[in-house]
Amino acid sequence: MTSAKQSSVAIVTGASRGIGAAIARRLVRDGFAVAVNYASSSAEADALVAELVQQGGRAIAVRGDVSKADDVRGLYEAAEQQLGKVDVVVNNAGILKTVPLAQTSDELFAQTFAINVGGVFNMLREAAARISDGGRIINLSSTTLALNLPGYSIYNGTKAAVEAFTRVFAKELRGRRVTVNCVAPGPVATDLFLNGKTDEQIAQFSKMSPLERLGQPDDIANAVAFLAGPDGAWINGQVLRANGGLA
Ligand code: NAP
Repeated sequence: MTSAKQSSVAIVTGASRGIGAAIARRLVRDGFAVAVNYASSSAEADALVAELVQQGGRAIAVRGDVSKADDVRGLYEAAEQQLGKVDVVVNNAGILKTVPLAQTSDELFAQTFAINVGGVFNMLREAAARISDGGRIINLSSTTLALNLPGYSIYNGTKAAVEAFTRVFAKELRGRRVTVNCVAPGPVATDLFLNGKTDEQIAQFSKMSPLERLGQPDDIANAVAFLAGPDGAWINGQVLRANGGLA
């Protein structure tokens, strides 16, 4: 049974932690009912949903691996049944492991493409049939694509694909008033960026932007909220680099 719709509905993939959790918090603050997707961090996702509900928001946690088309269908179905027709899709789930191309394993290549590219593809294909007219789609790319740092070949390859999907899909949705954009963060203080880096490496990255600090998850949530909200209506098929001027 589909619930009566009380507010705009958003799905945020990979929202148990990091940037996705900040986006979910911000969208609930902006009045959206939010489906908080995650792959394995159920305790974090449940705690986030409890926090949002306690503050008077509408949110549900939905487990699902975005690289699996069946899980993605289940994610949309859970959102539709429990919150209502989906108006905003934020494709945030992603993984990063930096390894020189020559040392990359078949498994790492396959896994990174399955989640970062296959996950966005599955979500977009399903969105074509399910998103409300006038809806918004925001995909997470990365400023690393502009930096060409050693070790980022596989990851940058996935984000190049995400940017390509964004530009084409924006045109394929002609007539539906749906916008499709990317937000491309610079380094943001989350597990994905911090894990495996020395304090010295983190300090170096912090100094790269002329604003001389790391991005925080809220910096990225602000950019996503702009694209998801009324002020972002005329932005379509674009990549917004939210990186403090790094590149
Ligand atoms: P993070 O802290 O590592 O969090 C990643 C999130 O994605 C978690 O909620 C994780 O859920 C989820 N996830 C991973 N694999 C998944 C899958 N197969 N299906 C569903 N969810 C999955 O990462 P983050 O830094 O917030 O990054 C978010 C996005 O921003 C990514 O697309 C990343 O490439 C991009 N980005 C990040 C930075 C940065 O510096 N942090 C810079 C540029 C771009 P579980 O815990 O349940 O696995």
